Amino acid sequence: MSEVDVLIVGGGIAGASLGAEIAEARRTAIIEAESHCGMHATGRSAAFWLESYGGPLVALLSAASWDFLAEPPAEFSETGFLRPRGAVHVTRDELPDLPPSVEARLVERDELERLVPGIRPEWRRALLEPGCADIDVAALHAAYLRKFRKGGGTVATGAQLQSGSYRAGRWRVQLTDGSEIAATVLVNAAGAWADPVAEGCGVQPLGIAPKRRTMVQLRVGRSGLRDLPLVDDSAGTFYFKGEGDRTIWLSPHDEIATDPCDAAPEEIDIATAIDRFEQAVDWPVEAVERSWAGLRSFAPDRIPVFGFDPETPAFFWCVGQGGFGIQTAPAAAKLAAALLLGTNPDPLVGDIDPGVYAPGRFAN
Ligand SMILES: Cc1cc2nc3c(=O)[nH]c(=O)nc-3n(C[C@H](O)[C@H](O)[C@H](O)COP(=O)(O)OP(=O)(O)OC[C@H]3O[C@@H](n4cnc5c(N)ncnc54)[C@H](O)[C@@H]3O)c2cc1C
Repeated sequence: MSEVDVLIVGGGIAGASLGAEIAEARRTAIIEAESHCGMHATGRSAAFWLESYGGPLVALLSAASWDFLAEPPAEFSETGFLRPRGAVHVTRDELPDLPPSVEARLVERDELERLVPGIRPEWRRALLEPGCADIDVAALHAAYLRKFRKGGGTVATGAQLQSGSYRAGRWRVQLTDGSEIAATVLVNAAGAWADPVAEGCGVQPLGIAPKRRTMVQLRVGRSGLRDLPLVDDSAGTFYFKGEGDRTIWLSPHDEIATDPCDAAPEEIDIATAIDRFEQAVDWPVEAVERSWAGLRSFAPDRIPVFGFDPETPAFFWCVGQGGFGIQTAPAAAKLAAALLLGTNPDPLVGDIDPGVYAPGRFAN
């Protein structure tokens, strides 16, 4: 039986980023059920950084992550992961409430038409959030895995936790292939599978709920779309952003409760997305080039969960990253690493109270 200090379950952005932050300090292994890391939520995102998304406690983590994403330390990556885009939160009636920390300004109809040519007349105005940027998710995830391995961490793919038990000060974890790993600390970074992983280890689940979200890549009869701002309906029924010259990524903003699984898009959600898109702009839809779906997993209060379980020793939660797990990853990983190692937090997150993300908030 192999033995490590910390065993991380899940090789998505959550497991990889936390692993990268602790690998030098502790002998750490990541086990990933799939044949490669990043196959689930991490590989299916819409890939943007939007500070206003998710409410004030998420915005704190997003804002704290900006500098690292824009200008990472040279040994982590020679290039940044962000590409400026800007977002317009468009409305037919009331303007949205954004967290007060977010830089935004009012855009009246004339300017909106220039920003989004062909937007239909009923979209009267918008809030412009200039800070919105695209994230190179694959490069960020790869850089975290690289740092993890460089720090001495090991990654096993096709390695699925079946169960775990805590005895005499250590975890014994059984994998589905019959092998076992011993660990001093077990980290749950299993995304949509967070609750089943906890249950398999005899730990009370937190109620992490996977919700399916659909993405559609459309080719449309309009060019010059690559640098279009993210167009977000303030009422939460769609968003889209330019991808290629004549292609966009579109989502109907769906949030469908589901069991953890390899999510796939449903025809009805693709049709809904296109219908809402056609109500937003007058660009003819020429083709659905591709579509995909992924699971965004939320804690009951929709705030992520970082910290040791209050009841079970040495069981660490790093879950509930919802629709913001990429844009918050740098800050979240540093915060979680300090909690796990019992060290002072990195200055990047020095002003953030980790208590608001603690799993103990769900006790009773
Ligand atoms: C359509 C969509 C759009 C999104 N857009 C954005 C966006 O624009 N910006 C943003 O910041 N975020 C976005 N997100 C959210 C973001 O993708 C997630 O928050 C993030 O990827 C979650 O990462 P994770 O590592 O927790 O989960 P995952 O990437 O799902 O990783 C969990 C891993 O755990 C593994 N696992 C599960 N059970 C076991 C087991 N028993 N043993 C071993 N391994 C196991 C799984 O195979 C999986 O690979 C979006 C998500 C979706 C679906």
